[in-house]
Amino acid sequence: MSDLKPTRVENDVVVSLAYTLTVDGQLYDSSDGHAPFNYLHGHRNIIPGLEKALVGLAAGESREVLVSPSEGYGEFDPESLIDMDRELFPEGYEPQVGAFLHVRGDDGQVHTACIHEIHDKTITLDLNHPLAGKELLFKATVLDLRAASAEELQHGHIHQSNEGCGSGGDCCSEGCGSGCC
Ligand code: ZN
Repeated sequence: MSDLKPTRVENDVVVSLAYTLTVDGQLYDSSDGHAPFNYLHGHRNIIPGLEKALVGLAAGESREVLVSPSEGYGEFDPESLIDMDRELFPEGYEPQVGAFLHVRGDDGQVHTACIHEIHDKTITLDLNHPLAGKELLFKATVLDLRAASAEELQHGHIHQSNEGCGSGGDCCSEGCGSGCC
């Protein structure tokens, strides 16, 4: 690692990004009005299709990329639609299509599920990522680049996120507990 400021996006560089994400012609997410999004390049902290498209950009440069589901949030998996007995839900629970809830899977992990359909005896939950099966149109501008610290490289994520945890760095889910969360 060198102390020189990197000039291009490449592996092990911390990238500061402004972006918009458009899905199905609708603006889905944007860094407008937020602090810039920062991530460590080359460590799968962002979706692969976007990461690939940014390689080689200098600060101030922009790129527009259409990311396919396989390089985004994955294909929509019909097997991830599961029927749950309504009796398993708390009494008085009023399910609504499109509502999100947390379910614990057989693997003990907590998944976010979306209510897909409501039937008399069962409720169909969709465990797919909300953007699974979608093409993602990103417009991204590289705002700044800096070298990563040795500790950041070791952890595989940045430690000075302005947005706190869970905004792409996945500090907490990786359980590093080193002050980034
Ligand atoms: Zn860490």
